[in-house]
Parts: sequence; C-alpha cells; structure tokens
Amino acid sequence: MTFLKPTLILPCVTDITPDWLRSHQIKGLLFDLDNTLIRPKTAVIDPPIEAWLKTIQAQGFLCAVVSNNKKHDYLKTCEALLQVPVYGFARKPSTAVFKQALEKLALQAEHAVVIGDRPLTDIWGGVRLGSKTILVDPLNKDREPWGIQRLRQMERCSIGEPLERGLP
Ligand SMILES: [Mg+2]
Repeated sequence: MTFLKPTLILPCVTDITPDWLRSHQIKGLLFDLDNTLIRPKTAVIDPPIEAWLKTIQAQGFLCAVVSNNKKHDYLKTCEALLQVPVYGFARKPSTAVFKQALEKLALQAEHAVVIGDRPLTDIWGGVRLGSKTILVDPLNKDREPWGIQRLRQMERCSIGEPLERGLP
C-alpha cells in the first residue's frame, strides 16, 4: 500500500540526522506529538529527545507539532515544554492543519518531513501532503496492552518496506 509507505523507518526521532535531512532538501520537521515526542498523557519529554530537538533547531531546522489530540490544556503544556508550536485537532490523515503549519513556517511541502508513529494518520497524512515521511516506533511500545500491540503489528505489516533503507 504505497499511500502508507514511509520514506524511512527508524526506532526513534533521535536517530534522524541533520545529514539525512540536508541530503533530502529538508528545511522543516512536522512531528506527531503522542508516542513520537512525548509519552502519551505524561506531558514529560525524555532528556535524550529534548537534547536532540534542541540540536536540530540549533542547526537551523524549523519544527512544529501537528497532533490529533483535542485536549487544549495538554496541548498548551506540551507547547511550553517543547518550545515548538503545537497544532492540535488536526484530524490526520487530513492535510488541513499540516498546511496551516507549513504556511506559518513559510515552507513548501517538499521541503518538510512528517514524522510519526502511526501509518494510518501520520504517514498517510504526510504522503498526501507531498512531504517525505519517517515512521518511528511508539515511545511506550513495550507498555501497551496486548491488543494495541497486535493492532500496530497489523498496521505495520500493511506498509511493507520503506522507500529507503537506513541512513546514509
Ligand atoms: Mg502518535
């Protein structure tokens, strides 16, 4: 199913390198929130992710979060924590809020990469947007109930191999 096929599959956002981004003419990163940058419902950012995010921004890459989460207070808390604009209520795979974020960053879709843990929302949305996409493992992968883990496996089986293998 090519509409669910990410450009790249990585274990965690911290595996994304500035070199890979530059070699793909990427200037901005559009992140999913829950399970990609933050463990769901915790509003806590893991120190390695926080450090990586700071490094990426210091290297001049623009960042925003586009989330399907609808909890206004939680979204505000995460925005303050991450120091990155957070757009909620996105209804991904809809591209409307992605486009809003791109406009604010003055970025073309082809110069952005959409990063998330869900093929059916994040990756499909990114493909529809016309951006590169990176699928990462959910942060609380090992703590999820059995049923959710099976569902994720099925979802991942449907995407097959990524377009690219590993990092240069
Ligand atoms: Mg997620």
